[in-house]
Amino acid sequence: MSELNLIMLGPPGAGKGTQAERLREDFVLVHIATGDMLRAEVADGSELGTQAKRYMDAGELVPDEVIVGMITNRVAADDARAGFLLDGFPRNAEQAQALADALAAMSRRLTAALLIEVPDEILVRRLAGRRVCVKNPTHIYHVEFDPPKHEGVCDQDGARLIQRDDDKEETIRRRLQVYHSQTEP
Ligand code: AMP
Repeated sequence: MSELNLIMLGPPGAGKGTQAERLREDFVLVHIATGDMLRAEVADGSELGTQAKRYMDAGELVPDEVIVGMITNRVAADDARAGFLLDGFPRNAEQAQALADALAAMSRRLTAALLIEVPDEILVRRLAGRRVCVKNPTHIYHVEFDPPKHEGVCDQDGARLIQRDDDKEETIRRRLQVYHSQTEP
């Protein structure tokens, strides 16, 4: 079996999404970013999104029963047959076990787990400076490292740039605590 099934581990702000996009371009696999999936649910105003939002804004993990089914279904979908790259899942031992069970039930296995390590102080600086476009959240800037041409305005579509609620410093600190206590290998 030649499918490449990868998981990316590392704290928020480590650059998992960036590296995942590079791997996706070089190999045949779908990039499954759980944070992005949840944010899309929030933006849609779905029931799942409404349930998830208060945890996300507080920097806490969304409960396993909200996320596990969503991700195991996504991994089982046809377009992930050739391989997947999970970014943001699993985030605790229960989720890791649920993934292992789901893969075993499909007679599939993980190829590798990739870990990106970055010191907390750098993560805080990266996340707190992040600004996203209100129209298209994949248009991402950084006030210090990747500023837009005009402050507060998206270079690509002229829309306003905002700081996401979960990129506020207090929430970032909590997200890092949660990473160290529940997710870090
Ligand atoms: P991320 O963009 O991956 O940092 O995710 C943003 C937020 O979504 C996290 O702070 C959590 O509240 C939630 N989240 C993302 N993935 C998971 C997961 N696997 N389990 C629980 N909550 C998650």
